[in-house]
Amino acid sequence: MRLSVLASGSKANSILLREGDTRILVDAGLGIRAMLLALQQIGERPDLIDAIFLTHEHSDHTRGLGRLLNKAPIPVYATHGTLDAISPGFARKQKAFPMNGEAVDIGPFTVSAIGVSHDAAEPAAFHIQTESDVVTIATDLGEVSRELSQAFRDSTIAVIESNHDEELLRTGPYPEVLKVRIASSTGHLSNHQTAQVLHRCRNRNLKHVVLAHLSEENNHPQLARSSACEALDNPEIAVHLTAQKTLGPILSL
Ligand SMILES: [Zn+2]
Ligand SMILES: [Zn+2]
Repeated sequence: MRLSVLASGSKANSILLREGDTRILVDAGLGIRAMLLALQQIGERPDLIDAIFLTHEHSDHTRGLGRLLNKAPIPVYATHGTLDAISPGFARKQKAFPMNGEAVDIGPFTVSAIGVSHDAAEPAAFHIQTESDVVTIATDLGEVSRELSQAFRDSTIAVIESNHDEELLRTGPYPEVLKVRIASSTGHLSNHQTAQVLHRCRNRNLKHVVLAHLSEENNHPQLARSSACEALDNPEIAVHLTAQKTLGPILSL
């Protein structure tokens, strides 16, 4: 399997997973030009993508969706609430399929949605299984449920947001109302919260941790990384950073 982070951060999020000839895209937050460039850089094309899974409707996860679907009529999967919230009648106009609590099979991938706490209509994390790997992707959430912890405990790759440093957020430039929103149980995970999850969910099979959705204003990559490494306390688990304008990591397993 190959997992490529095309972008991750407060402005755009998108991850491509490939197993053999099957490709699934999780979120389409890059504008179409940046999306096409990122795909080209990893030797891929929109018309090769078999399915798009959306975590939620926020624009940093859906910005490029409309124009991507104009280029290639790719089926879209998301919760009912997310499909309804993207645009009026979206699900009728596109090949869109609500995830009704059952896993979706796309070639070798089996994808399940896990509800998360975030200020969107019906946001989800994804648990993605292939014959040899289990990937859990959770990028926008204010707290981690028992079900999601269990998903991380099963995973060989954990993609988890490490959005902000609590002190940098508190003393940073954001207006108070936004600070409260980010730090709330429907906002985003801090480095400290992420570290707690990683510590709790370490398992024998975990090979890679990808720290996602880092705030450019309220975090430093080194803070996020050191916090995660300390919590994992296992040099055999690779910890990767992501960035808004840089492709990667690209993990081949
Ligand atoms: Zn969001
Ligand atoms: Zn987001």
